[in-house]
Parts: sequence; structure tokens; C-alpha cells
Amino acid sequence: MSVISPPKYVVSVLLCLESHGFRAYLVGGCVRDCIMGRRPNDWDICTSALPSEVMEVFHNSRPTGLKHGTVTVIEHGSSVEITTFRTDGVYLDHRRPENVRFVSDLTADLERRDFTINAIALPLSGIAFDPFGGMADIENKLIRCVGDPDRRFNEDALRMLRAVRFSATLGFEIEEQTMAAIRKNAYLAKSLAAERVCTEVEKILLSKTPQKIEELIRSGLLSEYVYANKNVTDLSPIALIPKNRFQRWAALCVLLRLGGLIDSAEEFLLKLRLDSATVHNASRGCELALSGIPQTRLEWKRLLAKNGTDCGKCTAAAAEVMDGENNIRQLQSIISCGDCYSLKRLNISGDDLLELGFSGPKLGWALDTLLDYILEHPAENVRPLLLERARQLL
Ligand code: ATP
Ligand code: MG
Repeated sequence: MSVISPPKYVVSVLLCLESHGFRAYLVGGCVRDCIMGRRPNDWDICTSALPSEVMEVFHNSRPTGLKHGTVTVIEHGSSVEITTFRTDGVYLDHRRPENVRFVSDLTADLERRDFTINAIALPLSGIAFDPFGGMADIENKLIRCVGDPDRRFNEDALRMLRAVRFSATLGFEIEEQTMAAIRKNAYLAKSLAAERVCTEVEKILLSKTPQKIEELIRSGLLSEYVYANKNVTDLSPIALIPKNRFQRWAALCVLLRLGGLIDSAEEFLLKLRLDSATVHNASRGCELALSGIPQTRLEWKRLLAKNGTDCGKCTAAAAEVMDGENNIRQLQSIISCGDCYSLKRLNISGDDLLELGFSGPKLGWALDTLLDYILEHPAENVRPLLLERARQLL
């Protein structure tokens, strides 16, 4: 029986389906996580009930993926996805099945799933249904395809990235034949949408072993995004960077740049369709670190004043994986000691300068000049002193 038990609302959905005469099981990632003693992100249920029957049983339900047999049910204020047992039709584009077919056989439903560890079904009775040896693979920490890996990756190329992602997030190895099939079929990843690739890369990047991104590169799964190169850069220093999206992307970019695997951090991030804040902060942080790592508190404060805190943190992350020094800690001490490095922290405002008679571009120039001065003389960030200094600038 699992170490973690499902919450009440999930049990109540399972009970309800069973009491209406349908079969219902927890399935996929939540079963895997429960067995491993990890709290699942979400709870997925599969059932013999057709989507229309699920909607009859639960009035508070929405057909969120009818094409794939998925109905979302709101139970006690929480939502659960319920998917009818199904098999997938043919795959024509290495991405999505052309159609799906609802079936009454649970084994057929589990057979379409990617890895044995994700193909275990758990009913309320607590006796797991595990036709592909998923429990043993969890025990042995192995990622293994359900069925022939070559065929499975041909059907859906995303599974290859998912394999590496699960190996990073769960700390598992990829079973030999599954790995060989990844190397053989990696070129098929070219057809995947950048957003889907990005989601997997980011999950690896934020895991305990971000260096598994090397595996993606080595096997050619990122050939659309980085240059093919037999000598992949050592990405293990990223593991020492806090699990912060901006900072880890910046650290990855700088190592890829140094290794000659990308020409431009910005282009790389844009191609992966990251949001604009990440593209901006991480690429700028990467370029700033490459153009010379700040060596003193004053240099760091100047960088913060010019580029903002998020960008400064990215620069420190990139710098840290480059030179192995405690750049992040140093920057953090500057941020938290209260020293002024931004107009917000300057003890004089635009309104004060207006009152003194400044206006237009001269006002902006005066603020910048005062900030510049205070970066070097933090003790003088005192209103009367600043007002006096401002008067001299009139
Ligand atoms: P996570 O912890 O990231 O949510 P998960 O295993 O729950 O991991 P999901 O993407 O939520 O992954 O998918 C739920 C389940 O659906 C999987 O466990 C797997 O059984 C099945 N699945 C998802 N994507 C695929 C795929 N591309 N091919 C085959 N089966 C898949
Ligand atoms: Mg999930």
C-alpha cells in the first residue's frame, strides 16, 4: 500500500464512480509519487465510465478534453481529471495520435502510457494493478518504456525528453534499451513545439540534477536549439545555483555560451519561447557576466543601479558558475544590507527636485547623478545632505 494516501476529495470521486457501477483507479504520476513517498502535483483518475457517464455522475463537471476522454470534476472545491480508459490511434506526426478509442480494458489504457513507472493503476482497495512491472522499476530506479521503446518514441517524440526529465526529477537511470532508442530517434524531436521542449528542459533545469541537460544535448534532443557537439560542456555547476528560474536559465546560458554550444543567450531563450521577463533577465545577466564579473561592492551596486535586481541576480548566478566564487552570496549581502543602489532607495525623490526647481531631462539627470554619488558614499544617503547636494546641481 502506498506511503501517501489520496486526499478526501479524490477518495470521494473514486467512491462515487464505484458506487455507480464503474471501475475507477488512480493512475499515472500520482501513483508513482505515492509509492515513492512524494506528494503528487495532481491526482489523475481513469475509469471505465464514458465521458458522458462521468458527467451524469458528477453535476459539477466540465468536458476539458473530450477528444481524449477527459472530464474535469470539481469535488469539495478541488478539481480532478477523470479520463475514460482509452487506446491511442495511429501517430502520423510523432506528436499526437490521430484519434483515440474508448475501451473497457484497463491493461489497454496502461499500455498506451509512456513509462512503466507511470503505468500503474491503484483502486480504492489499495491493491495496485501493475502489468508492466512498474513497481519493480520504481524499486530499481529505472525509466523503462512500456513496450518497444523504438516504436513508442516514433509515436511521440516528446517521450524522449520526458524520459530524461523523469530521470532528473526522480533521480532514476534510463534503462539501456530505452536509452539506445533515444539516441536512435532523437532527430524526431525536431518536430516538437518549442513550448513543449522548453517545459521539459525547465523541469530538468530546476531539478537536483540540472546537468542531465547534457544528456539531452549529447543525444541530439536539443539539436534545434544548440550546436551539435561531441564535447558537451560540464553543466554540473548549475546544481549549486538556487532553484530560481531566472538564475538557473542565466547559469545554463553562460555555460552553453562558453562551451560554444550557442552564439547568443537571447536567441536561444527566444527560440525556446520563454516569457519575456526570463529572456530579458537571464540573457542580460549572462552577457554582463561574460563582459566582466564585478569585483567590488561598488561595481555590483553600479550594475544593480543600471540593470535592476532580477538582472543583477542573474549576473551573479552566471558569474558563479563561471568562476566558482560566492558571487550570489556577495550580491545578496549587498541587497539585504540596505545600501542604496536604486532610485527607490534614494532618500530624495523626483517631487523634491521639482520643488527645488528642476524639471524635464535635467531632473532625471540630477537623480542619476545623486544616485551615482550615493553608490560610492552610502553613508550620505540622508535627506538634508541630498537636498543640499541637489541645490548645487541646479
Ligand atoms: P508530473 O509529476 O510531471 O505531473 P506525470 O507522470 O503525472 O508527471 P503528466 O504529464 O501529468 O505526467 O501525465 C499523466 C500521465 O499520463 C503520465 O503519468 C503517463 O501515464 C501519461 N502520459 C503523459 N504524457 C504521455 C505521453 N507523451 N505518452 C504516453 N503517456 C503519457
Ligand atoms: Mg501529473
